[in-house]
Amino acid sequence: MIVLLFGPPGCGKGTQAASIAQRFRIPAISTGEMFRAECRAGTDLGRLACSILKSGGLVGDAIVDQIVAARIQQPDCASGFLLDGYPRTLEQAAFLDAMLQKRGLPKPIAILLDVPAQVLVSRITARRQCGLCGRIYNMLSQPPKLGEICDNDRTPLVRREDDTEEVILARLKAYRDATGPVIAYYRNGGCRRVDAAGTPAEIAREIERLLAGELGAARSTREASAPPLSCIS
Ligand SMILES: [Zn+2]
Repeated sequence: MIVLLFGPPGCGKGTQAASIAQRFRIPAISTGEMFRAECRAGTDLGRLACSILKSGGLVGDAIVDQIVAARIQQPDCASGFLLDGYPRTLEQAAFLDAMLQKRGLPKPIAILLDVPAQVLVSRITARRQCGLCGRIYNMLSQPPKLGEICDNDRTPLVRREDDTEEVILARLKAYRDATGPVIAYYRNGGCRRVDAAGTPAEIAREIERLLAGELGAARSTREASAPPLSCIS
């Protein structure tokens, strides 16, 4: 099973990636994790990607594609994998399609975690942090026991400077501009939209139901292509 996970910043993608990985026993691979692994391994590609990132540049499609191609050939990807943060451009999507086809791998299942902008804004503006110990709270989902005061050390909580509606909406727009065409590309291939406005547990259940359905459908397609054992009139 090959899963591509898409979603705007603040949609809880990291949490869901970890949950899918655990439930379906496939590695959750993020672009950042891949770059770091290649850097550590000291491969030619890794060194190249590292030096580009250190100089503040964007790693180009060709390098990202090669790193992904190498990563998904590792033994832990034998029964599938989840990609988070890739493909990010139409060129990368076309490369991934061609590579999967060449290697005889199944078509990816693309999942978009969809959250209305207003829900993301209220989620993120509800974040508070303790200036002393750094503990993060959420006034909606994980509030402190007393008012806006840290449970650990009674320090008043503060909102982080970039957790404002304006910054969040700008981040969302940047995400939509960059990823919109890629999501549209997968929509033709049946990109699955998951309502991610609920709790992490609710979203995980919905994704699990969807992926289990996809696995069942793939299995019955294979069985249907085998000669029938009996006819039911
Ligand atoms: Zn504290």
